[in-house]
Amino acid sequence: MFTLSEDQIAIRDMARDFANEQIAPYAVEWDEKKHFPVEQLRAAAALGMGGIYVREDVGGSGLTRLDAALIFEQLATGCPGTSAYLSIHNMSTWMIDRFGDDTQRRQWVPRLASMEHFASYCLTEPGAGSDAAALKTKAVRNGDHYIVDGQKQFISGAGSADIYVVMVRTGGDGPKGISTLVIEAGAPGLSFGANERKMGWNVQPTRTVTFEGVRVPVENRLGEEGEGFRIAMAGLDGGRLNIGACSLGGAQAALEKALSYMRERKAFGKRLDEFQALQFRLADMATELECARTFLWRAASALDAKAPDATQLCAMAKRIATDRGFEVANDALQMHGGYGYLADYGIEKIVRDLRVHQILEGTNEIMRLIVARALIAQGN
Ligand SMILES: Cc1cc2nc3c(=O)[nH]c(=O)nc-3n(C[C@H](O)[C@H](O)[C@H](O)COP(=O)(O)OP(=O)(O)OC[C@H]3O[C@@H](n4cnc5c(N)ncnc54)[C@H](O)[C@@H]3O)c2cc1C
Repeated sequence: MFTLSEDQIAIRDMARDFANEQIAPYAVEWDEKKHFPVEQLRAAAALGMGGIYVREDVGGSGLTRLDAALIFEQLATGCPGTSAYLSIHNMSTWMIDRFGDDTQRRQWVPRLASMEHFASYCLTEPGAGSDAAALKTKAVRNGDHYIVDGQKQFISGAGSADIYVVMVRTGGDGPKGISTLVIEAGAPGLSFGANERKMGWNVQPTRTVTFEGVRVPVENRLGEEGEGFRIAMAGLDGGRLNIGACSLGGAQAALEKALSYMRERKAFGKRLDEFQALQFRLADMATELECARTFLWRAASALDAKAPDATQLCAMAKRIATDRGFEVANDALQMHGGYGYLADYGIEKIVRDLRVHQILEGTNEIMRLIVARALIAQGN
């Protein structure tokens, strides 16, 4: 459990090398220019990172959730926003692989795994965020099609993606009335809002997605009618681990930057790393990060083993990794003094990117709700 296998070490090092060579040198510029690094994402996919825990018969890498956590952490040392888009793409692709029938898997997954096609996950709506089961986007059956009307909010990759995994209402109120449809870009009636101006994650677009009378073949539905909420939540178990891993990677990079800065910078006639107060803070940062990492691996192993408490553990891991990750990155910025606030040092971007991990894929308040509900149910 606490020792990585040789294969895992090789996977981790491959992802770190890729981040060092193909992502880190460009991340600040991509952020400034709001550039979505399509070319580098496809290069990552060529190394097997487009469908990490997708089955091999449709082009996936057939790896575990723990392997995925190692990969997303390492990629995020180069750019958390880039790694996080890849994580959403992997989550959506896995949902088709896991819940699609053979025809659907063969139709969509190979081009997603190679990242010839990009995917988006569409759950949130203007009136339904944390309370996702209140979503209103409607899909009304008309012969062998659904007619879809409604709007999704905050959709990562929207406008650039080719495949949209969309949670819609096909039945009554609540989670049991929700189904999942795969909707392809270019469908008449499908449109996108402007790229949102935001605090971080500038390397990937975030847009509203609007459906106006979009005709979607019934054969594009994953699973049965009414199973959509379960499918959406299953995707998020892994998605939350991945986002947590992205926070660990961003924070690790920030810690490494702080360490090397403190070796160089002098104040009061001493190097910064000679001040004991700062040494203690460094020790706390490394300790917090290692605790979060170890726990995230435990949750990933539970998901791999399909443990009954996996959802609860993934929610705990998401909260711990994203909270600790943000705090460590912010402390690293503080250790840079005024220079940490300048874009050239790459620290302020990490802090801005990591902030949203405490909000999306379920806010950290909702993570507590999931854990508390499970505890109370066990108590009863
Ligand atoms: C950059 C970005 C990218 C995103 N990408 C995607 C995407 O690709 N796909 C997608 O579907 N969604 C995406 N989201 C949406 C994200 O998942 C939601 O923003 C998030 O779930 C919170 O929903 P909300 O913004 O509506 O906040 P609200 O639900 O309105 O919550 C507001 C506040 O109230 C708190 N709160 C709500 N209910 C409770 C409760 N019961 N108990 C305690 N506190 C509560 C919340 O924690 C939060 O602090 C993205 C968001 C952002 C910012």
